[in-house]
Amino acid sequence: MKLKVLEQNKDTLKVEFDGVDPSVVGAIRRTIINRVPVLAIEDIDILVNSSALYDEVIAHRLGMVPFVFDVKKLVQKNVCSCKGAGCDKCEVTMVLNKVGPCKVYAKDIKIANSSVKTVDGNVLLISLLDKQRLHFEMRAELNIAKEHAKWQPAIVGYSYDADAKGSGKNKVVFNLKSISGLNPKQIILKSVEIMKQRLDVFEEALKSPGKNIPEPGDETVEKKVVIKAVKKEVSDTEEVKEEVKEKKKVSTEEAGVA
Ligand SMILES: [Zn+2]
Repeated sequence: MKLKVLEQNKDTLKVEFDGVDPSVVGAIRRTIINRVPVLAIEDIDILVNSSALYDEVIAHRLGMVPFVFDVKKLVQKNVCSCKGAGCDKCEVTMVLNKVGPCKVYAKDIKIANSSVKTVDGNVLLISLLDKQRLHFEMRAELNIAKEHAKWQPAIVGYSYDADAKGSGKNKVVFNLKSISGLNPKQIILKSVEIMKQRLDVFEEALKSPGKNIPEPGDETVEKKVVIKAVKKEVSDTEEVKEEVKEKKKVSTEEAGVA
């Protein structure tokens, strides 16, 4: 097998595989898409949302924001020493607190972990009108796209000349575009590491027929809702309080008329 890098930059990679069956490249593609972990916002406490968008809509938008992170400092919750309870090694706390009129961008998210930042701070999340306010407390975590597409690290595809198959000219061109905080090299290397781990599990299973050998991390995987939006009682700013008072007054008057 020969490899030739045809194109490489910050977030894309194009490689030609020579003399390899397309199914092998397909396995790499599926491993990248489904199993390479990246960082995304998972839990959101919605303290105040007086914007025009529903809680769920903003929560979904926030879940799609990609983050750069240090692969050596963060681990997936299901393999963390805290056993899924949540700690500095498996969770990143973030806060979004803005009062309109303004546009709210990804760069407005304040992140407690200095090794984490947004891939593109200029992603527009929402526009706020006068006195509209967002105040969210959020937790991001590493996970894989097998759980939810927001954790997909890259878009990957490959092409090959079907006619050349069997002629000894078995060339597959592999294309990768990162849509996460990981670069193409990190993504490829991680996918190979994961494939190796899974093959080890397969080998182990072949040695012990009938025995259920779990994949790494599968023993403690906790299934849960994708994004939970929880309303909490908090003290609003004076402006928001005023607004609430006004609203109450209007409704009381209406009741009086009726
Ligand atoms: Zn932990």
